Amino acid sequence: MGPRQDVETRRNYIDGQWVPSSGGRLDTSVNPANCNELVGFVQNSKRADVDAAVAAARRASQAWKALSGGARGDYLHRVAEVLARRMEEVAAIVTREVGKTLGEARAEIARAVAILRYYAGEGVRDIGSTIPTANGSGLLFTTRVPLGTVGLITPWNFPVAIPIWKIAPAIVYGNTVVLKPAQDAAVTASYLLECMHEARLPDGVVNMVTGEGAVVGQAIVDHPEVGAISFTGSNEVGRAVILCASARGAKVQVEMGGKNPVIVAEDADLDRAVDATVDAGLRSAGQKCTATSRVIVVASVYEAFRSKLLARVRELKLGDGARDDTWMGPCASEGQMQAVLGFIATGIREGATLAHGGTRAMAQDLSNGYFVEPTIFVDVSPSMTIAQEEIFGPVLALIKVPDLSEAFAVANDVRFGLCASIFTRDIGNMLAFIDEVDAGVLRINCETAGIDFQAPFGGMKESGSHAREQGRAAQEFYTAIKTVQIAS
Ligand code: NAD
Repeated sequence: MGPRQDVETRRNYIDGQWVPSSGGRLDTSVNPANCNELVGFVQNSKRADVDAAVAAARRASQAWKALSGGARGDYLHRVAEVLARRMEEVAAIVTREVGKTLGEARAEIARAVAILRYYAGEGVRDIGSTIPTANGSGLLFTTRVPLGTVGLITPWNFPVAIPIWKIAPAIVYGNTVVLKPAQDAAVTASYLLECMHEARLPDGVVNMVTGEGAVVGQAIVDHPEVGAISFTGSNEVGRAVILCASARGAKVQVEMGGKNPVIVAEDADLDRAVDATVDAGLRSAGQKCTATSRVIVVASVYEAFRSKLLARVRELKLGDGARDDTWMGPCASEGQMQAVLGFIATGIREGATLAHGGTRAMAQDLSNGYFVEPTIFVDVSPSMTIAQEEIFGPVLALIKVPDLSEAFAVANDVRFGLCASIFTRDIGNMLAFIDEVDAGVLRINCETAGIDFQAPFGGMKESGSHAREQGRAAQEFYTAIKTVQIAS
């Protein structure tokens, strides 16, 4: 398809230059709140474009890693300043491209700015430890070195925060980067690269190639000169990425899906639990890996919780995320919407009771968008598909359990283990939850989503590769340890 005059064409960013892809093919990015509105044209790149980006990153590597950590950190501070200054412009693009509300987009960008500042400081923090020697003399210590060029493959649901929480630690520890963002969020990614360009990040330190996952993503995963791969996305793709990257000896980290439960105990503050369930389950139309998806409620408070939840959900206003009065935006793409509607149909077929929503929202101002009504299933059995599989949409499954020990068993009875939360006032319940629930992130009296950026983040079981991102934990992935001994 050729570019239209009035819609911007975004390019790849290689070696500090904006370049078209070698084949000249373009994809369109559309507004999911109104599929007649084009957000931009983006490059549909080929393997040769990845080769060019990797070559640029390799060339930049030596000079970049030779800088002090503090000097690299100064660049991150500058990128943070530019992104903070351009917040409104970038937020508007995020809303137009993936559908989240402007408030959600602004919060995501503020988080990305904070992450950049946090990792800017990492440039001057310790990178090793001293260890007593066996014979008591000389010096034994560890230091950390960059891995070289790393490939970063990211999803569309946090189109600013996820690329930044990978790029910032990667470059502050001295690596250079080739980023492949999701094609549905590639316009937003190009704005991030513009911020880096404006901050005068040296040419080749961060490069971006957009296109299909199976072509561009796969070319990065397979590239012999990409020493490490960090991937966030679906389980299906993530598992293949682990196999391909580790088969050629690359370091690899993947963060994948979740099926996150909130547990409501007998002594819970029900109003607080309802607010947290609605926020974590339905904000961003449920399209967060940390979204609440299963609501496991102890029988004695089940009816009270259910009626409060339904009353709250009836108040939610769907609409274009750019409107001030919108609480929930659309699914991010037609494919995403169809997948969510498919899960809803399966829930009904398997016998779950639909208590609210369940359909595409077709009111006049919504009919050109990919809107799904906030959907509540009640009396769901833990073995049903909607209680087992990640839906990634505005759908909550209420499960009634006799007591907390059954709640913990149900919480653990899925293949995922990303986040879990509990609402209770009892310290014994909290300690049992921490002990018994298998999830990388445990939250007590707060929603499953929204963990602080300075803390380690990642999942157990099939939610990830058992590594952690964010906070100081990122150092573990983006560096290699050298153990050094000097005899006296
Ligand atoms: P996806 O797996 O379809 O795509 C993720 C990225 O991988 C995209 O850039 C895509 O183009 C690329 N890709 C696709 N095929 C590839 C291949 N063969 N080789 C290399 N790369 C390839 O996921 P998505 O639909 O963009 O995102 C939604 C998923 O992401 C959900 O499952 C969600 O739970 C997960 N997610 C996880 C986290 C986390 O931190 N655990 C955070 C956000 C999203």
